[in-house]
Amino acid sequence: MTNERVYLSTTIPYVNARAHLGHALELVQADVLARHHRLAGDQVRSQTGTDDNSLKNVLAAEAEGIDVAALVDRNASAFAGLAQPLSLSFDDFIRTGSDPRHRPGVERLWRACAASGDLYRKQYEGLYCVGCEQFYRPAELPGGLCPEHGTKPERVAEENWFFRLSRHAGRLHDLIGSGRLRIEPAARRNEVLSFIAGGLEDFSASRSTARARGWGIPVPGDPGQVIYVWWDALGNYITAPGYGTGAEDYGRWWAGADRRIHLVGKGVLRFHAVYWPAILLSAGEPLPTDILVHDYLTIGGSKISKSGAVAGSETADPVELADRYGTDAVRWWLLREVPRVGDADFTAARLVARANEDLANGLGNLVSRVVTLVHRYRQGRVPRPDESTAAAAPGRRALAAACQRAPERVAVALAAFHFRAATAAVWDVVDEANRYVERTEPWLLARAERRGDAAAGRLLDESLALLASACSELAVLLAPFLPDLAGRIRAAFNDSAGALPAAEPVFPRLEAAVIGDAA
Ligand SMILES: [Zn+2]
Repeated sequence: MTNERVYLSTTIPYVNARAHLGHALELVQADVLARHHRLAGDQVRSQTGTDDNSLKNVLAAEAEGIDVAALVDRNASAFAGLAQPLSLSFDDFIRTGSDPRHRPGVERLWRACAASGDLYRKQYEGLYCVGCEQFYRPAELPGGLCPEHGTKPERVAEENWFFRLSRHAGRLHDLIGSGRLRIEPAARRNEVLSFIAGGLEDFSASRSTARARGWGIPVPGDPGQVIYVWWDALGNYITAPGYGTGAEDYGRWWAGADRRIHLVGKGVLRFHAVYWPAILLSAGEPLPTDILVHDYLTIGGSKISKSGAVAGSETADPVELADRYGTDAVRWWLLREVPRVGDADFTAARLVARANEDLANGLGNLVSRVVTLVHRYRQGRVPRPDESTAAAAPGRRALAAACQRAPERVAVALAAFHFRAATAAVWDVVDEANRYVERTEPWLLARAERRGDAAAGRLLDESLALLASACSELAVLLAPFLPDLAGRIRAAFNDSAGALPAAEPVFPRLEAAVIGDAA
C-alpha cells in the first residue's frame, strides 16, 4: 500500500457560545480519521479552529454587554480546550480573527477571483438570516422562516460585491457527478447535484462595513465593504497551511496533498460543496477531494439551540460529560451510536448503557479475564506455544479469522465514512474472543493439566497465547477510536518486566448513581 499525504479539516464553528456535543461529534470523527491514517503510515495534517469574524459573535457580545474581542477570546479558548477532555490530536488550530496567517490569505483569494473576472458590484435586496449568515430566496423559507433557525430573516438592501457562481455550475456538476470531488454519503451528493442542476445564482460576497459593525476583513481596495464571513471562514482551509503567507506548507499540505478531506455538518454542505469549490476554481487552486457529511444530534429529544443550550435536564457540554463519564465513554457513544445518515438522540443514560455493555462488560471483562488466567495458570507469562505441535482448541479458527479480517474491514468502513461499521468490525473480535473463552474453558484445561494431561496443557498454552494476541490486536484496532483505553489495554499486555502487570479493570463500570446524578 502506498502511503499518502492527507489533509483533514473540521469546519470552524463561530464562537458566539460554548462548544456542544454536536461540535464534539465532528471533532472526534476527524480525530479518528487522522489517527487511522497516521497508523497506516500516511502523512497527516489535521486542522480545526474557530470562525471569529461572524456577525453572530458581534451580536452575542452586544447581548452580554462585553467587548467582541473578549467574547471571541473566551469562547475560542474553550473550543481549543476540547483537545484534552476529548483526547483530540489535531495538528493545527486556526483562529480567523487573530491568526496572522489568515487575513493575507483571504485577501489573496479575493484578488485571485477578482483577476478571473468573477467579482462585480451589484445593487441587491434580499432576505438575510443572521443565524446562517446567508441570503435566502422566498421559496426557500417555509412559512417565511429560516429552515435552520425557524426565525424571520431580515430584509437587507445594499450594494455589494457579487461572486459569479453561475459561471462554475457546469464544472462543479461534472466534478461532483464524476466523483473527482467525492461527497459521502451518496444521499448528500445527490442533494448537491440537484441543487446545482436547479441553477446557481451569483452570491453576495461582501457586506457594508456598517452592517458588519466594522467586524471582519475589509474588501481589498474597497474599505466600505467587509468580505462575506463565509468567504472568510472557508478560506481557513488554505490560509492555515500558508496560502497567503507563502509558507511551504501550502504546497505540501494543500496543493501537494493526495487527499484534501473536509468534514462538515449537513447544514453547511452547500457552502462546502458549491461555494468553496467554485471559489477555488476561480482562483485556480486545487479543490478538496472528499467532503464527508454528518447529520445532527438531538439531546434528550431536543434540538441543540444556537446558544448550545438544550431543553430538559440533559447536558450538551462535552467537557462536563467527559468529566463525569470519561473520555472513552463519550467518544464511544459518538462513534458507536450515531448513524451514518439520520439524526441521533443523545441522553446520558444511553451513553452509560452503551459504555457499560461494550467497554466494561464486553471488552473490559475479556481483558481482565485473560490477564487473570495468565497469572493464575502461567505465573503472568504469556505462553509461546510451538506452532507445529498446536492442538487447535475449538473456535480457534473463528477468532484468528476475526482478528485477521478486522483491519481491512475497519479501513473500508472508514474510507466510506462509516464509523458504526468500523466500530462493529472491531467488536467482532471482542465477541469472538469472549466466545472462544466460553468454548475452550481454560479452567477445565488447567484442571486436566494438573491431573497429568499434557495435551490439555498444550491446549491451555495455545488458548492463552491466542487470547493475549487477540487483546493486543484489539489495542491496535481501537487506537484510532479510543486512544486512552487502547493505551490501557496495551499496558495490560506489556510483559517487558518478565510478566504481565496484575489484572486491573481497563474500563470500570459506570455507576447507576452517576446516571441518577445526570438526570
Ligand atoms: Zn438561519
